[in-house]
Amino acid sequence: MIHKACSSPAIETDTLTAETCALPVEAFPFTCFTCLEEIMDESEIRYSEEIRM
Ligand SMILES: [Zn+2]
Repeated sequence: MIHKACSSPAIETDTLTAETCALPVEAFPFTCFTCLEEIMDESEIRYSEEIRM
């Protein structure tokens, strides 16, 4: 998942592999892995199937 505000991964990549398609709604809010801002809901993230390094 990509955090729109910083265009960087919102959660750790290791976690992403397991839960990329199904983030439970109860997971919000959580802290962005990259910029440490709080992400309140899905509108602040973008699902990305490709991980570009
Ligand atoms: Zn961020």
